[in-house]
Amino acid sequence: MKQSTFLAPTLRDVPSDADVKSHQLMLRAGLIRQSTSGVYSFLPLGLKALKKVENIIREEMDMAGAQELLMPAIQPAELWQESGRWEAYGPELMRLHDRHGREFALGPTHEEVITTLVRDDIRSYKKLPMTLYQIQNKFRDERRPRFGVLRSREFLMKDAYSFDTSVEALDESYQKMYDAYTTIFTRCGLDFRAVEADSGAIGGTDTHEFMVLSEIGEDTIAYSDQSDYAANIEIAAVNVTYEKSDEELSHLKLVETPGKKTIEDVANFLDVSKEKLIKSVLFMVDGEPVLVLVRGDHEVNDVKIKHLFEATIVEMASDEEIKKWLQTVPGFIGPVNVQQEIKVIADHAVESIVNGVCGGNSVDKHYKNVNPGRDFQVASYGDLRNIQPGDPSPDGKGTIMFKEGIEVGHVFKLGTKYSDAMGANFLDENGKNKPMVMGCYGIGVSRIVAAIIEQHHDDDGIVWPASVSPFDIHLIPVNMKQDDQRELAEELYVLLNKEYDVLFDDRAERPGVKFKDADLFGFPVRLTIGKRASEGIIEMKVRHSGEVIEIHKDELIEAIK
Ligand code: ATP
Ligand code: MG
Ligand code: MG
Ligand code: MG
Repeated sequence: MKQSTFLAPTLRDVPSDADVKSHQLMLRAGLIRQSTSGVYSFLPLGLKALKKVENIIREEMDMAGAQELLMPAIQPAELWQESGRWEAYGPELMRLHDRHGREFALGPTHEEVITTLVRDDIRSYKKLPMTLYQIQNKFRDERRPRFGVLRSREFLMKDAYSFDTSVEALDESYQKMYDAYTTIFTRCGLDFRAVEADSGAIGGTDTHEFMVLSEIGEDTIAYSDQSDYAANIEIAAVNVTYEKSDEELSHLKLVETPGKKTIEDVANFLDVSKEKLIKSVLFMVDGEPVLVLVRGDHEVNDVKIKHLFEATIVEMASDEEIKKWLQTVPGFIGPVNVQQEIKVIADHAVESIVNGVCGGNSVDKHYKNVNPGRDFQVASYGDLRNIQPGDPSPDGKGTIMFKEGIEVGHVFKLGTKYSDAMGANFLDENGKNKPMVMGCYGIGVSRIVAAIIEQHHDDDGIVWPASVSPFDIHLIPVNMKQDDQRELAEELYVLLNKEYDVLFDDRAERPGVKFKDADLFGFPVRLTIGKRASEGIIEMKVRHSGEVIEIHKDELIEAIK
């Protein structure tokens, strides 16, 4: 590529509206331009990096046995109503309507589309397992678009969806994707960590996020200094255990349980320790305060407990028992209604109720053997969560430390949430109809490009890892007016282009301008052709180490390797 006609408009000054390094550098090096808030064009240089990342992802997805398809960005509202997310997804969903008044969404994710697609075309266990993926623009009306393409409203995502015949088979599909993600982020030159995560509005159980370690990350990772334990603090907090004094618990008066007025009474009655009781999860259903007692390492924040002067104690039962119970809750008609009624609970627990996996408010009913995570998703309390650096690690090994991370990938076990809601069934070996067991797996492709720059830059510009650099080589004749320099450069351009992606700075600019741009662009190898051109001598500079060597053109190909 010849730079004289290449669209890579560089900026000398730091743009005032860009707060983080990657955003500044992407603007300064002419990788992106903003169209409107949270919406960007990728210019040729940016697109080349994006394609490099995309291709790494594609290679690893294919290697893991996933098949590429392409789904529409425009999705009919009916699909989202079927899954219950038309209401639940909230204002982040970009909604539009056509000339006939029919409503649509611009896809922020594709569970609904893929589930109906597979539902209609796969009927037999013989076709399963199957994992499908696409690389496509997603739309989310982010409350605060920022940091350039790190959090934009239109962005490129790789999203994959797995379909299995059983929970055990899903475990395998999930592990394959998890491993592929590890390879992808490693190949992109990223320093990252996989962490346990909160399953959020999408629903589901087992889930991990892949976090690029960076001070500007919007997520905080709690990790142990002595083990592999690492979790998003959104979920880590609920695993913290701490002792509460009697005074701290005294405000808990549970009057609706006959004869059991205090936390002590209730604990004795249920034959659990007070500590376990305090690690319960609270919410309101239909105006009634409900305390779901969770056995396990879950806590609830005392601020919330204060709201519950009246509560009924329930332990968890099997899904079936709980579903039955839910039918008896007056006014329980579905997500919208429940959402309105719930005063304490966050999104996450709404999903749990809707899925019929938790609940309780009838006097003297006590469900047994709850398994948090399996039977119940713990509500997300947002800012009320409080794991802190210095806490003992929930796995009992070491001490908790904090680090900021940028979420670049996310893997979920969805289970049958969408296949149940949308009737995606298959016939098993015995001709029995069963819901498919699903997983979903996202990667922020455009976000990765910014995350790479965030981790790979210096004062002069970007320092691309070779695997994702837009060009391999920057070829720079110092003075195009010198015949020997220009001729050697042209000769090398033809030669190198056969094997490498070369940007040839054929501009009649001053050397200072050319070198400043070269450092800003940050390709791995810079070849400068100057005074010694007539001898066939070239200067080679390695961007990441700054190492400079002089080399004869005949030895060049060997040296670049
Ligand atoms: P975040 O927590 O940053 O809002 P998310 O959890 O909402 O992300 P997912 O639904 O898990 O995102 O989507 C899969 C991937 O898409 C994310 O891991 C992230 O890399 C990317 N992504 C999500 N939102 C954006 C965005 N607004 N801009 C760029 N990339 C995004
Ligand atoms: Mg988000
Ligand atoms: Mg997230
Ligand atoms: Mg996520």
